[in-house]
Amino acid sequence: MTYVRRFALVCALGALGVGATACGGGGGSAGHPARKVVSAPASAAPSRPPTLAPGPAGLTPVFKSAAHSPVRTVALTFDADMTADEGPRAAAGEHFDNPALIATLRRLKVPATVFMTGRWADEYPAEARSIGADPLFEVANHSYSHYAFTGDCYGLPTVPPARMRSDVERAFTAFRKAGVKRTVPYFRFPGGCYDQRALRALTPAGVTAVQWDVVSGDAFATDSDAVAQQVLDGVRPGSVVVMHCTRSAAPATERAVRAVVPKLRERGYRFVRVSELIGTAAGRPSR
Ligand SMILES: [Zn+2]
Repeated sequence: MTYVRRFALVCALGALGVGATACGGGGGSAGHPARKVVSAPASAAPSRPPTLAPGPAGLTPVFKSAAHSPVRTVALTFDADMTADEGPRAAAGEHFDNPALIATLRRLKVPATVFMTGRWADEYPAEARSIGADPLFEVANHSYSHYAFTGDCYGLPTVPPARMRSDVERAFTAFRKAGVKRTVPYFRFPGGCYDQRALRALTPAGVTAVQWDVVSGDAFATDSDAVAQQVLDGVRPGSVVVMHCTRSAAPATERAVRAVVPKLRERGYRFVRVSELIGTAAGRPSR
């Protein structure tokens, strides 16, 4: 039981370092990263973050990275994981939040995108509100339940197709309830697992799915140097790095960030939020 639960969580956190293609049942081919930006940060109101145009047949578009970006930008993303059935564990003292990590990002002035589950916002409304009120950050959607959107995602419980859209919308509702501002219409599939059916089910939600090209390997890692090295080895201009904002499941992340940030800045990288990468993914924003 413990092993299964732990395994499921590790996998959901993307700790196996396999990226989306190994867990999405064709996620790679379904990725068809659309490059058409339908709204732009420069010309649109701040309340309208850039999104990608829908894929073929109106499918939810998928953004992985701004590969071949001519400028050295990199987006650190942090999944604030908490599964719908983990309330008792939080009540027993397990920490699914990571205030020290958020404090470090603020101290180092690193913009970041936090993919938050609705359940996390329910548990930590003050922290969720604080992150959402800080212009350094943007809050994106990581589902309400953190259950899987495909039938086979590392043993996670699954969301039935008929409830996929409502699970995503329920997370936005939880953000509103917690008073979170600066939410963006981006969605990260739990475990990175998705297929055509899931992309179709989420079309009415109007989100852009966001994957990653760099796996930090921070889930359950205790060696922050190894995590930092994996990030430094993987980052290219326009990269999206997946990390976690969940103390109990990713205890080395804050230390790894402290190591990574100055080194990437030395290499000329500028940290950006995912919205900036999406806004420039087409080379320049378009209307
Ligand atoms: Zn997650």
